[in-house]
Amino acid sequence: MQFLWQQADAAQAEAQNRYPEMRCLTGCNDCCKHHGSPITHASEWQAIENWLTSRPELVDQVRQRHQALKQGLQAKLEALTTPTLNEALFALPCPFIADSPEGERCSIYSVRPLTCRAFGNTLLQPAVSREDLYTCAPEQDRWEQELPMAEVNLPLRTPLFEALANDRRRSLLSFLERYLHQSASDAEAAGHAL
Ligand code: SF4
Ligand code: SF4
Repeated sequence: MQFLWQQADAAQAEAQNRYPEMRCLTGCNDCCKHHGSPITHASEWQAIENWLTSRPELVDQVRQRHQALKQGLQAKLEALTTPTLNEALFALPCPFIADSPEGERCSIYSVRPLTCRAFGNTLLQPAVSREDLYTCAPEQDRWEQELPMAEVNLPLRTPLFEALANDRRRSLLSFLERYLHQSASDAEAAGHAL
């Protein structure tokens, strides 16, 4: 995974070098709070899980945030006039965005999924319209207003994902839920064995 993540980081650095006015540079994390849980590949999750397992304090914090998210999900479902689970899930923050002394930050930044690394700084296909930008709606509008789209020259998103084409994909939240459930069961079994 490290090689793929490094390629995505290099693409991001290249994009930021070309367009230093990119808003994602300023510490914005709105997409982590308002775009639901990012789609993650199984091999990426395995690397994230290994990283988490060596940090039990972080797992405890994530477990608490996950509980809060579940309560938030229930409130969102009740608030929607025609509730759908997908809509409510999309309105939730990513379970890994957390407070830190520097403000809200990604708590798994060094192992965050490829889609997070590519978001905001790649194109879905050579630029024709703002829809080709793989970024949030406000950034799409800003790019369109400030630069003729045909001249936008950002790295393409698709080649970064080619090596993962056959990998199983789920939302990061879904992988996390299975992991938290399994680690709670393991802890309970260990308690009974004592
Ligand atoms: S993609 Fe949009 S919301 Fe996400 S960091 Fe960049 S500017 Fe902020
Ligand atoms: S994993 Fe990190 S970067 Fe990706 S959406 Fe969650 S908080 Fe944001």
